[in-house]
Amino acid sequence: MSNGAIVGINWGDEGKGRMVDLLTNQYDIVVRYQGGGNAGHTVINDFGKFALHLLPSGIFRPGVVSILGNGVALDPENLWNEMQGVEAQGVPLTPDKLMISDRCSLLLPWHRELDCLEEARLADKKYGSTRQGIAPFYSDKYQKKTVLAGELFYPEQLKAHLADLLEWKNLTITKVYGAEPITMESVMEWVDNYCEKIKPFICDTGRFLREAEKNGKHILFEAQLGALRDLDFGIVPYTTSSNPIASYAPVGSGLTTAKLDDVIGVVKAYSTCVGEGPFTCEMFGEEAEKLREFGFEYGAKTGRPRRVGPIDIVATRYGVECQGATAIALTKLDVLSYMDKIPVCTQYELNGEKIDYFPFPTALPMCKPVIEYLPGFKTDVSSCREWDDLPKAAQDYVLYIEEKIGCFIKYVSVGPERDSIIIR
Ligand code: GDP
Repeated sequence: MSNGAIVGINWGDEGKGRMVDLLTNQYDIVVRYQGGGNAGHTVINDFGKFALHLLPSGIFRPGVVSILGNGVALDPENLWNEMQGVEAQGVPLTPDKLMISDRCSLLLPWHRELDCLEEARLADKKYGSTRQGIAPFYSDKYQKKTVLAGELFYPEQLKAHLADLLEWKNLTITKVYGAEPITMESVMEWVDNYCEKIKPFICDTGRFLREAEKNGKHILFEAQLGALRDLDFGIVPYTTSSNPIASYAPVGSGLTTAKLDDVIGVVKAYSTCVGEGPFTCEMFGEEAEKLREFGFEYGAKTGRPRRVGPIDIVATRYGVECQGATAIALTKLDVLSYMDKIPVCTQYELNGEKIDYFPFPTALPMCKPVIEYLPGFKTDVSSCREWDDLPKAAQDYVLYIEEKIGCFIKYVSVGPERDSIIIR
């Protein structure tokens, strides 16, 4: 065993949470390396059903250490609420099991407010933000205008730093958006109510990880969202403000020397997309309603109905390449069992020409999907546990996708539960 990463190949919501939950027993440490509370991993296991937003999916395994790396947007309020919810469902969280990097930047009380103000200003041109403050947070991080988690151990300096930042930020809030200023009193209340609660979990996780690596521990890197939402390689500007791609894992985890031996790319057996932006393979009307209903495609964080479509070979192949996936987990195959014939978006048509490559974001709205159909399998596959249990048409669908995207499909998921999986 060695180091691994579990990453999304498409628009997010591919089912990464269930894959990390399944595979954590092969690892000693699980590290979240990017993003914040703006997405949700759904995990169903012996403890119950969970929608995790910030906590790494390794928290359910005894003996596994879960880490929030420096690349994460650490929202103390969200994290503390999530920790309490998880503990209430019988999962103990202690500082030897959950560690927060002292180099995580804090998502501050004004980031969420600025996210809402800007989306409101954009009106019908909005980016479709989840309004969790992620974009204002990462902008400020790169301007060096946030606070590091480790600063909580220096209360005097922290207070002075927050006061400086607040003075600067209130200029934007009041003079640009015409909103009410945030008071220092409310900021200090937030420090007491949330930051103080998570403080016992904050430590030098970089040193811990370097030591662990020296001792031959196996580390799993966990991402949020997918390649098409990557700030540098995704469908800009309809991306997140961080880098979900696997090659960011060494930086965002704090183990800069990490080698990734296995990169498991998670792909859904069809496509979904939350929020705005080009989604070339999108289905509409009754066909879409049916797929959304069978797949229960509503956002884990926002409850918003997800846009749906057939699997998109062009986008998925690009995602596989960006992620450097060494194997694929194909999820939700069971959802397709109602279809008489299964649509697949095999190419795009751009300016009258059929293309196989994923085009530059500005060209995407001009692309039309080329749809082909494969025979449906019309059988409930949710109890299949071996490859040979799958009907031939389902096997053919998986093999077709595998060939088209150019990566071995090692896992076929046929249900949300931990054991609803076929390993090839
Ligand atoms: P993530 O953010 O990539 O972890 O994905 P989400 O948790 O947002 O979405 C995946 C959803 O699909 C969750 O509700 C999972 O419980 C569910 N799920 C995952 N794999 C399967 C599967 O193979 N079949 C079915 N029916 N549901 C699945």
